[in-house]
Amino acid sequence: MLLDFLFPNRCLNCQTIIGGQEIVCQICMEQIRFHHSESGDERLYERSHLLFPLREAYMLMNFEKKSLARKIIHELKYKRREITGKILAEWAAEKITLKEELPQLITTIPLHPKKLKKRGYNQLHLFAEKLAEHLHIPYDHELILRKRHNKAQALQDRNQRMKNRTEFQLNKNITHQHILLIDDVFTTGNTMASAAWELLKPPGNSLSIFVMALDD
Ligand SMILES: [Zn+2]
Repeated sequence: MLLDFLFPNRCLNCQTIIGGQEIVCQICMEQIRFHHSESGDERLYERSHLLFPLREAYMLMNFEKKSLARKIIHELKYKRREITGKILAEWAAEKITLKEELPQLITTIPLHPKKLKKRGYNQLHLFAEKLAEHLHIPYDHELILRKRHNKAQALQDRNQRMKNRTEFQLNKNITHQHILLIDDVFTTGNTMASAAWELLKPPGNSLSIFVMALDD
């Protein structure tokens, strides 16, 4: 309580004092370009279905340069503010309605163990956990594992990236499941594609994806 008084929680964007369970103030929140299910924005689907077969593609925010969405994801990744993942999950539950035939299982893109050790946490966990609670769908964070560190993936050419498709491996034998795969930002889609193909190896599995932000 004393700490709250000395160091009140402030809006990530404008520094206005806000409640302890918030990350941005109401005014700044209006600046975020949320994606709504009804808006008919198919960009994520259009980009991902070229890389792997999928049923549905859900995104929460747009990720333009200097956008508040970018600040929020940065906060989530590097500032160890657990509340960020929780709030993003609340926004996701509030703004995105999943289409009928809900996924049966939620999983996340795993961090490489080295990265996990350095950062201390996977920024996707709390988000996925809370979203799973809202949707009443089980969350398994160990469904896929990362095989090895993938250096400077962005710099590699296409051939190299194709070779790196085996970056992940399936950790459990699951079949005939509709899986919801979660990541924070969809940029090239290569990481997601790599994980997607692993999840789709066993018979009968199908996939939908959910990203916090789409980088255009
Ligand atoms: Zn603000």
